[in-house]
Amino acid sequence: MKRILITGAAGFLGSHLCDRFIAEGFHVIGMDNLITGDLKNIQHLFGLENFEFYHHDVTKFVHVPGKLDYILHFASPASPIDYLKIPIQTLKVGSLGTHNLLGLARVKKARILIASTSEVYGDPLIHPQTEEYYGNVNAIGPRGVYDEAKRFQESLTMAYHTFHGLETRIVRIFNTYGPRMRLNDGRVIPAFIGQVLRGEDLTVFGDGSQTRSFCYIDDQIEGIFRLLFSDYSLPVNIGNPEEISILDFAKEILEMTQSKQRIIFNDLPINDPLQRCPNIDRAKNILDWTPKINRNEGLMKTYKYFKDFSNSDLIKEEH
Ligand code: NAD
Ligand code: UDP
Repeated sequence: MKRILITGAAGFLGSHLCDRFIAEGFHVIGMDNLITGDLKNIQHLFGLENFEFYHHDVTKFVHVPGKLDYILHFASPASPIDYLKIPIQTLKVGSLGTHNLLGLARVKKARILIASTSEVYGDPLIHPQTEEYYGNVNAIGPRGVYDEAKRFQESLTMAYHTFHGLETRIVRIFNTYGPRMRLNDGRVIPAFIGQVLRGEDLTVFGDGSQTRSFCYIDDQIEGIFRLLFSDYSLPVNIGNPEEISILDFAKEILEMTQSKQRIIFNDLPINDPLQRCPNIDRAKNILDWTPKINRNEGLMKTYKYFKDFSNSDLIKEEH
């Protein structure tokens, strides 16, 4: 049985990756320090023979007994309000944490895939963003702690590939959403859905002309899965190129949920990228991957997930 270590296992993406690799017949070792994750996301896996969990901070030395065939490094705060709250941990998990996992991969002769991000392009000056674009990041701005950690993570990973011959993969993830996001994580989809469910006005930052392109979780997991088993070691964008302005998106959510709330405008956060849309030609050509789930379908599934919890703590914790 192949053995895979997944860091950030109790988080949004990590927990869906655990499910996928369990379903594919792997022995999955999840690791997480629960700083932004929640054991509820993986509680259904506890008790399975082919699942283990280590409560561990990957910025500290990482030890896993036995053989390892693959490592997926997904541990890192991912939402702007999370990484603004814990900036130093964010820098450490991208740098020291990645170093520990690359070292572990080397010792175990495992293939490692690291979770990078569209934020390596910063506030992009070319549109849509191709993997060749070097980016436009303000290293000392508030988002720099995340962006630069991820850029360093990519450099270190390529150095291990080049100098140690390690089998590495780099996925540049564009805004991904779906069940198991935290309703209060500050990202725009849980924020708007939470506001709809609580009967509050929707908070659009700036004038709402900034754009994003939202990818449903199942499509993202499929892209990551294909990348891991490809033989391609340069970064690959995985995201849905269907782009929308945040203002139009707020209107779309109100319409979809038949809600009567107003849209109110708050300040645009510093260095909030004004446009973001992936060029996915590389993923199409190399992985034969394209997203299959359109925004309407993905949003309905996500809305239903949050609505099913509407009388639970998920809603109450907002107040
Ligand atoms: P998340 O916050 O839901 O999950 C991250 C997980 O990592 C959490 O469970 C957290 O507790 C864990 N973690 C953080 N620091 C850790 C540490 N030092 N040691 C062990 N565990 C630690 O976020 P997510 O959306 O699932 O993001 C997962 C990964 O994907 C991140 O690396 C993120 O940068 C990347 N990513 C996500 C998106 C997205 O749209 N969701 C976009 C780009 C990149
Ligand atoms: N945003 C917003 N209202 C909110 C939360 C976010 O208008 O309540 C905006 C935010 O300023 C950004 C976009 O939505 O332009 C996406 O934000 P998110 O935090 O989801 O992701 P990121 O900025 O990392 O793409």
